[in-house]
Amino acid sequence: MSNTSTQNRETMGFQAEVKQLLQLMIHSLYSNREIFLRELISNAADASDKLRFEALHNASLFENDSELKIRIGYDKTARTLTISDNGIGMSRDEVINNLGTIAKSGTREFFARLSGDQQKDANLIGQFGVGFYSAFIVADKVTVTTRRAGESASQGVRWESDGAGEFSIEMVEKAARGTEIVLHLRADQDDLLNGYKLRSIIRKYSDHILQPIVMKKEDWKDGEQVMLDEDETVNQAVALWTRSKNDIKEEEYKEFYKHVGHDFQEPLAWVHARVEGRQEYTQLLYIPARAPFDMWDRDTMHGVKLYVRRVFIMDDAEQLMPRYLRFVRGIVDSADLPLNVSREILQESKDIESIRKGCTSKVLGLLEDMAKNDAEKYGKFWTEFGRVLKEGIGEDFANKEKIAGLLRLASTHADTTDETVSLADYIARMKDGQDKIYYITADSFNAAKNSPHLEVFRKKGIEVLLLSDRVDEWVVSNLQEFQGKQLVSVAKGGLDLGKLEDEAEKKEQETVANDFKDLTEKIKASLSERVKEVRITHRLTDSPACLVVDEHEMSANLARLLKSAGQNAPKSQPILEINPKHPVVLRLKTEEKKFDDWAAVLFDQALLAEGGQLDDPASFVKRVNQLMLEMSAS
Ligand code: ADP
Repeated sequence: MSNTSTQNRETMGFQAEVKQLLQLMIHSLYSNREIFLRELISNAADASDKLRFEALHNASLFENDSELKIRIGYDKTARTLTISDNGIGMSRDEVINNLGTIAKSGTREFFARLSGDQQKDANLIGQFGVGFYSAFIVADKVTVTTRRAGESASQGVRWESDGAGEFSIEMVEKAARGTEIVLHLRADQDDLLNGYKLRSIIRKYSDHILQPIVMKKEDWKDGEQVMLDEDETVNQAVALWTRSKNDIKEEEYKEFYKHVGHDFQEPLAWVHARVEGRQEYTQLLYIPARAPFDMWDRDTMHGVKLYVRRVFIMDDAEQLMPRYLRFVRGIVDSADLPLNVSREILQESKDIESIRKGCTSKVLGLLEDMAKNDAEKYGKFWTEFGRVLKEGIGEDFANKEKIAGLLRLASTHADTTDETVSLADYIARMKDGQDKIYYITADSFNAAKNSPHLEVFRKKGIEVLLLSDRVDEWVVSNLQEFQGKQLVSVAKGGLDLGKLEDEAEKKEQETVANDFKDLTEKIKASLSERVKEVRITHRLTDSPACLVVDEHEMSANLARLLKSAGQNAPKSQPILEINPKHPVVLRLKTEEKKFDDWAAVLFDQALLAEGGQLDDPASFVKRVNQLMLEMSAS
C-alpha cells in the first residue's frame, strides 16, 4: 500500500486484489445490483452480534444503549443512501485492514485463474464473497464513519473512496458507536431513493436478520411523500431458526443461508432441527452448492456459527463440525451452554462433543437421503465436496461405514470419471465367487485406467475401482473393508483370485513357475538390490512385466506422493513379476550376451508403466536404442 498524508487525512492505495475485485464486481454483478443492501445489512448484523457477545464480558461497551438496530435512510436531494448500525464499530487499523485489503489466502491466484468469460460470471465472483465492496455497484463514492465500542468520541474514523484505486482515511469525532455507511449513488440509481423500493428489497433479502432494521415512517401529504419523525421496523427481526419449520418459506431459508454462509449462490440442501433431551439445541445446517476457492486449505473455515440462547458466540466454531465436514455452513443455537463459553472451554466440553455428534449425524443423514432420493443432486455435491468428505474415512472412526457408503468412485465398470459407482453398487455387481473389492491407486485417472495390473481383471470381467485422488491413498489405508468385504489393491501382494480362478488355471501357474524358475532367478541376480524378488505373474495378459509391493508395504503411488511432497518415504524394494507368455520374456530365456540390458529395460519399463520415475533415465534410453538397433540389424 502506498500512502501520502496531509495532517490527519491520509490517502492509501487498495491492495491490488481489491482493485481487481472492485472492477469485476461492478460489471459482473450489475444485473443483481440490489444485493449490495443485503451485504451491507449482513455486515451490520454481524457487527451487532459481535458487540452483544463482547458485552457479555464487558457491559460498558453498550454505552447505555443496548438496543441494537440497523437503520436505513435516504436523502433525495443529496442522492445518498445511509446504512448505519450501533454494533461493534472499527478502529483505524481495522478499517484499513477490512476495507483496504482482502484477507483470504489464495485470492491473487483465484483472480489470476479467471478467464475473461469467467470474470463476467456473477456466480464465480459471488463465490468469492461479495461483502462490503458491493457498495460500489450502485455508488460512485462511499463514505464510512465508524467508531469502535468502548473508545472515546474522538476515536472516530472516516474512510472514503470512489472505488477506483485509493481511499482516504482520517480521524473524526463520532459520538455514537458503530458504523455509518453513506452511499453516493451513481447517476442511474435514482430509483433506489424510494422508501417503498428499499422496504421491498429489505423484506426480500434481509427479513431474517435478527436485529430490527428500521426506517422512518412515510406518508403522503398533498400528493407528496414525506418522512415522519417516527420509526418502523421493516423486517420480522426474529431469529429464523427459532421459528417453526412449517412457517418458514424456502426463500427465507435460502436468504438466510446467503447471510450466514457469506455466499452469493443458493444452497444445495439444508436441515433444520430442534434437538431435545440431555442437550437442547437447534441446528440449521446448509450444504453449499459450490466449494469456495479456498476449500482445500484445511485451515480456512467459515463453518458453523455458535449461538447460545440466540446470542451470537462465535464464528467457525470448529468444535461443532469435524474437519471433513468443513464445507457445512449454518448455525447451532444451544439452550444449555453458558454465555461466557470460550474456544478453550469448547475444546473440552462434553456438551459440545455431543452437539458435534448430533450435527455430524444430521449432515450424514441429509447426504444419505440425497444420495438415495436425488442421485443427480448428490452427484453435484460429490463433485464439489467428495474429496473433502473422503477425509472422514480416516478421521471419524464411528461413522466410517456410513461415510464409505457415501463414496462415489471411478471404476472399470464405466472407465470414465464422469460416471462413478458406490461401494454398494460394486458389491451388487461382484462375480460369482468374488469376495473382495479390488482397487488400484495411481496419480492420474489415465494411469490407473491403463495400468498393466488390471489386465487379468479386464480379461475376467472383474470390476476394479480406479482411484486417483491424492486423498484416496488415505482412504484405502483406513478402509479395510465395507459390508464385510475386504478392500484389496491389485498392485500389492501375491494375487489371490480365490474362487475366481479354476483348478486348471492354478495347476498351470504352478507348472509355468517351475519352467521359468531358472529365468526368474537369473533376472533377480542381474537386477540384484533393485528388486526384492522376481516371479511369474498371472496378472498380465499383454504387458511383459509389472511391479508389485508386498501386502503390508506402502504402495508405490503413496511413496511417490510423499516424495513429491518433500517427505521421506521408506525405500521400497518392489517385486518384479514377468509374463511368461510375452515374446520379450520368452526371448530372454535364450538371451546370453545382452541379458543384463534386457533385464534392466524390463524393470524400467514396468516402473514407467505404473507412473514411476527412473533413477537413471539416460541409461534406459541408451539401452533401448541399442536394443532397437540390434533388432533392426538382425
Ligand atoms: P466479510 O464480511 O465477508 O468478511 P466484507 O468485505 O463484507 O467481508 O467485510 C470485511 C470486514 O469488515 C468484516 O469482516 C468486518 O470485520 C468489517 N466490517 C464490515 N462492515 C462492518 C460494520 N458495519 N461494522 C463493523 N465491521 C464491519
